[in-house]
Amino acid sequence: MQKLLGNFKEGLIFVVSAPAGTGKTTLVRMLCDEFDCVHESVSFTTRPARANEVPGKDYNYISSAEFQKMIAHKDFLEYAQVFDHYYGTGRSYVDALRRQSKHVVLVIDTQGALQLMEQIKAVFIFIRPPSIAELRRRLESRKSDSTDSIEQRLSWAEKEISMADRYDYQIVNDHLKTAYDVLRSICIAEEHRNQK
Ligand code: 5GP
Repeated sequence: MQKLLGNFKEGLIFVVSAPAGTGKTTLVRMLCDEFDCVHESVSFTTRPARANEVPGKDYNYISSAEFQKMIAHKDFLEYAQVFDHYYGTGRSYVDALRRQSKHVVLVIDTQGALQLMEQIKAVFIFIRPPSIAELRRRLESRKSDSTDSIEQRLSWAEKEISMADRYDYQIVNDHLKTAYDVLRSICIAEEHRNQK
């Protein structure tokens, strides 16, 4: 029987970018929970794990030397330096999921997304906060960042938001349920698009 999502032999790639504190992690997890055929790619990073993070689930945590080796072996679909650390998407992991008919969601920053826009066919989605003031309020209430880090994240957020027009879609995450309805609608529509 035809499904709402998950009818493809080879999955699509959805690239999601959003400034920290926009709710992208929650939105993407909601999508993966609702649809078995949607998987979030687990990136590699040189950043140390935060207290609540699980290796292999949130990120694959590797050393700078290992990261450099992966760059040399062309193991990354894309990679970028974000704040003080490197982050990259493993090429073989994404390919393997797609061959298992899974749609793969890459939650990556704008630098990585811009690299992929030149290279691969994917659906590019940008999630915006309702405003910078609201983003500041969310980051401050998270209590996981120092004041300096919040200021750094806010100024980077403004740069990222200035690139939102280059994406295929923009979603404002003002109300979580509405933003989620838009995200799932985009994924469903993309699976029903005439493939060229
Ligand atoms: P965090 O350290 O807060 O988990 O992530 C910092 C930033 O790195 C976020 O914008 C996140 O989307 C981005 N990021 C995570 N994984 C990747 C990746 O594989 N590639 C790129 N380019 N950015 C990533």
